[in-house]
Amino acid sequence: MHGLMMQPAFSIAALIRNADRLHGRTEIVSRTIEGPIHRYNYRDAHARSRRLANALRALGVAPGDRVGTLAWNGFRHFEIYFAVSGMGAVCHTINPRLFPDQVAYIANHAADKVLFVELSFVPLVEALADRLVSVAKIVVMTDRAHMPATRLPGVLCYEEIVEAASDVFDWPALDESTASSLCYTSGTTGNPKGVLYSHRSTVIHSLASAMPDAFCLSARDTVLPVVPMFHVNAWGLPYSAPMVGAKLVFPGAALDGASLQALIAAEGVTFSAGVPTVWLGLLAHLRDSGKGIAPLRRVVIGGSAAPPAMVREFRERHDVTVLHAWGMTEMSPIGTVNTPKHGMDETPEAEYARQVRCGRPVFGVEMKIVGDGNENLPQDGVAFGELKVRGPCVCRSYFEEGVSSAHDADGWFATGDVATIDGDGYLQITDRSKDVIKSGGEWIGSIDLENIALGHPGVAEAAVVGVPHPRWDERPLLVVVRRKDAAVTRDELIRFYDGKVAKWWIPDDVVFVDALPHTATGKLLKMQLRQDFKDHRWTETR
Ligand code: ADP
Repeated sequence: MHGLMMQPAFSIAALIRNADRLHGRTEIVSRTIEGPIHRYNYRDAHARSRRLANALRALGVAPGDRVGTLAWNGFRHFEIYFAVSGMGAVCHTINPRLFPDQVAYIANHAADKVLFVELSFVPLVEALADRLVSVAKIVVMTDRAHMPATRLPGVLCYEEIVEAASDVFDWPALDESTASSLCYTSGTTGNPKGVLYSHRSTVIHSLASAMPDAFCLSARDTVLPVVPMFHVNAWGLPYSAPMVGAKLVFPGAALDGASLQALIAAEGVTFSAGVPTVWLGLLAHLRDSGKGIAPLRRVVIGGSAAPPAMVREFRERHDVTVLHAWGMTEMSPIGTVNTPKHGMDETPEAEYARQVRCGRPVFGVEMKIVGDGNENLPQDGVAFGELKVRGPCVCRSYFEEGVSSAHDADGWFATGDVATIDGDGYLQITDRSKDVIKSGGEWIGSIDLENIALGHPGVAEAAVVGVPHPRWDERPLLVVVRRKDAAVTRDELIRFYDGKVAKWWIPDDVVFVDALPHTATGKLLKMQLRQDFKDHRWTETR
């Protein structure tokens, strides 16, 4: 017997329509590439999204067509999100930090028909233009006055096509499983793979991630997505903020500490989200300048492990609660968020100890850990194995890739992460399976070792990688960027591990570098570090 309730389809257009109706005067503020701060509200954004949908239709974009973007976080990118998905086409955000070859591969693999390009990325597209086989139209995301002199043929000006179009557009009723947006994983090994989200998965993800024990978003919040809109849809914030009616603040290309501090203070930002590297920059700036980030209450840190020293600095110096989160492109991306629950009346130290972990699954996400033979392992906080997930916001296969080896017959997706899950359901990532260090037949997790190094006052950034060793197969090598003016030494750092981990986990050696390599999504590029140090000469052999 079926229930007798209405069943309107979940749709992305409903998010902006509701924001217009209920929060029409709530602001969207953007730092622009052209220079000035732009401000308007949800009503204006909705009207311009409808104009853009008409303009796209006039350009020949049909339901299911892919529309690419190479753009920062800003109001025009936001309008593209809603115009493209709302009309039934697929918004394909491309990460401009990828190698140009990968950008071309991704745009061709997705068969993007129209490409929206921010001013800063016009040179990139000029260099690739001959190789973009499917792109029929390029739209530069600026006004007539700022249109660049370019050799790209027939480029269009964003403001011109929007202004010329009518704002009368009825969002079509779509089946909720209609594809809405497409993101590629960064593909550190092999070609990037496309994850194709639907209206349904996007709305469910927004509901789950906005909940009080996740991001706790409300119509009184001011949300600053520092995580780029080209990195897994800025972790869903361009959808969840209008869902609840939060004010949005977009940072454009200025992700340095001084620019972020200025925006947070000027706009009254209460909530933000980003990878650890951007927070390193912000915290260093706050230390040097003595400035504050007073309105800010909550910061989501994800994409890589949140270093405990960073969690502490946010709390003790700025009264900001860190929400440690874990997720993946394949999961829309939020999998877990770390908030306490009943029975956890925590002392500050107990709270820090909890926050090292990645948190509990948001509603809809199921998790388990398995051993080498795919057998379930106990969720006791001790046993560790490969993490598998499933749920309504997890991809079931990759875009145009045929059968996926990451999915098993029971519908579980293998994340490639090694993890523990404790009795309370809290997840702890030990490592990416390919980054685990194998020493004398045992595994050493690099994340714990990095977190300890980051707790030393002389360390700005740290990576631990396994390097070939004549006796132990691999041993951990600590690679460190010193903090400005710090003189910390190798021996001091090695001693710093005493009593904090088992003796055989302690890195055998330390190398100091000026900078660490990162992937296009801000993760440590460990493959390169392993390559750089594969011939490392151990100063002391065990
Ligand atoms: P990519 O496109 O590089 O795969 P994702 O954002 O999808 O980018 O990366 C997902 C991976 O990032 C996870 O599988 C995990 O290894 C890592 N990751 C994300 N959040 C955390 C976290 N809080 N702690 C440790 N690792 C994390």
